[in-house]
Amino acid sequence: KIGPVLLKISGLKVSYGGIQAVKGVDFEVREGELVSLIGSNGAGKTTTMKAVTGTLPIVGGDIEYLGQSIKGQGAWELVNKGLVMVPEGRGVFTRMTITENLQMGAYIRDDKAEIAMDIEKMFTIFPRLRERKDQLAGTMSGGEQQMLAMGRALMSRPKVLLLDEPSMGLSPIMVDKIFEVVKDVYAQGVTVLLVEQNASRALGIADRGYVMESGLVTMSGDAKQMLSDPKVRAAYLGE
Ligand code: ATP
Repeated sequence: KIGPVLLKISGLKVSYGGIQAVKGVDFEVREGELVSLIGSNGAGKTTTMKAVTGTLPIVGGDIEYLGQSIKGQGAWELVNKGLVMVPEGRGVFTRMTITENLQMGAYIRDDKAEIAMDIEKMFTIFPRLRERKDQLAGTMSGGEQQMLAMGRALMSRPKVLLLDEPSMGLSPIMVDKIFEVVKDVYAQGVTVLLVEQNASRALGIADRGYVMESGLVTMSGDAKQMLSDPKVRAAYLGE
């Protein structure tokens, strides 16, 4: 069920002022794949994700989506094309209710009846959100906000979902739930690019993986093979 290349990043460079955080990164994601991007703090994973989704300008290289360069396109232009990111730290609208946040996720759509059906679907995936549907998002726990952020992103019916450290700061039970949902979303045919500190869990559910270090991709391959690679285990799995 793996299709053609959907997202192709080549020679990507991103800087903050004079400091280069991403120094020429190449990777690709095929249709129907779940690809995990791992690496230690400050390796440039978040910067890469932001550049791909149009929230940071790129200094060099190219980003192709569906066979065309999307360089310079803004975040919401890309949401319209099905390329959607759930940012690190969630980014939910804290002063809106759960339901309003989910409705906002569907702002590119005008099929009211189907939007209502999809909100129901999110409440089925995340029963906690249904229980709290009229509560302000800012009053929810970190794990609940992560669920809401994922639900909101899914409301746009993305082709590719980019998740930036969805398990960060969550309790073990919440981490399990989030990984379960990521697997389900992928099983339903959404292509997923997952950035995670939790390398073993991230590689455990992925088809392929990439390791980033100091702004560069230093390793890549089949996720299961990477999981058993002594170098990966030593550096990222605490062995
Ligand atoms: P983390 O898991 O900690 O988020 P990361 O791999 O996602 O790590 P980035 O957040 O992309 O790493 O950071 C890459 C480098 O860019 C780091 O050295 C960081 O200090 C730097 N950096 C990130 N954001 C900014 C910014 N807004 N201004 C200046 N430097 C930044």
